[in-house]
Amino acid sequence: MSARGSLVLRGIRKSFAGTEVLRGIDLEVAPGEVVCLLGPSGSGKSTLLRCVNHLERVDAGFVLVDGILVGYEPRGGRLHESSEKDTARLRRRMGMVFQHFNLFTHLSALDNVMLGPVRVLGRDAADAERDARALLARVGLKDHAGKRPGRLSGGQQQRVAIARALAMDPSVLLFDEPTSALDPELVGEVLAVMRDLAGQGMTMVVVTHEIGFAQEVADTAVFMDGGVIVESGPARRVLSSPSSARTAEFLAHVL
Ligand code: ADP
Ligand code: MG
Repeated sequence: MSARGSLVLRGIRKSFAGTEVLRGIDLEVAPGEVVCLLGPSGSGKSTLLRCVNHLERVDAGFVLVDGILVGYEPRGGRLHESSEKDTARLRRRMGMVFQHFNLFTHLSALDNVMLGPVRVLGRDAADAERDARALLARVGLKDHAGKRPGRLSGGQQQRVAIARALAMDPSVLLFDEPTSALDPELVGEVLAVMRDLAGQGMTMVVVTHEIGFAQEVADTAVFMDGGVIVESGPARRVLSSPSSARTAEFLAHVL
């Protein structure tokens, strides 16, 4: 068995209407590692995250989380497609945080966080509520549990979304531009929560243009362009002295 929080991608390919958007992605993430995924718009970052938690089905390759394989496994000289059961098992272990929060607007912050544990995991409501309140406190929203998203700032809503993802006790957390939709003054509070999670050993893959955050928090930086990984390595090295001209050019534009 691999340790909880390990993630391996091998040969991931994905096309839409004949256009190949992911052209063979290989990546290994160790338990507790934080990976920042960078790259220009349209390079395939969101599609890759969606393939990792199987919101999209891969065309080739596989994803391995905690030893659970989803996709196409080469075995005995042939490819074996994983089962629906394994897809469901793998998805349970992934948490995802989106740019636009995707909270249920008619539910309170507390109910947003409790919903998955109660409905999907079948947790007892009183236990789920106790844990959800603790998670809201952990993201600095102890006094906002009863509020609906519309009464919260964007930064507070994104922190509810992070608490909701954590409530499912994921092995790996995926973030797709979690601060891109926020007013600049609200970015810091969300990054602070993410920094805490990283410090507590959560395995994270973060698509972000926040280079300062990446430099400070990420172990590894991965630069994608045109559906391939152009460069990856220790975050400080890649972000300060990239070896690829394409990475350097991209960084010059976002910095
Ligand atoms: P990024 O997140 O790096 O900006 P995306 O993964 O969103 O890139 O998109 C990569 C490419 O795939 C883009 O050209 C986009 O238009 C295309 N694409 C993404 N999702 C779909 C889809 N569901 N159907 C068709 N094309 C898509
Ligand atoms: Mg995207």
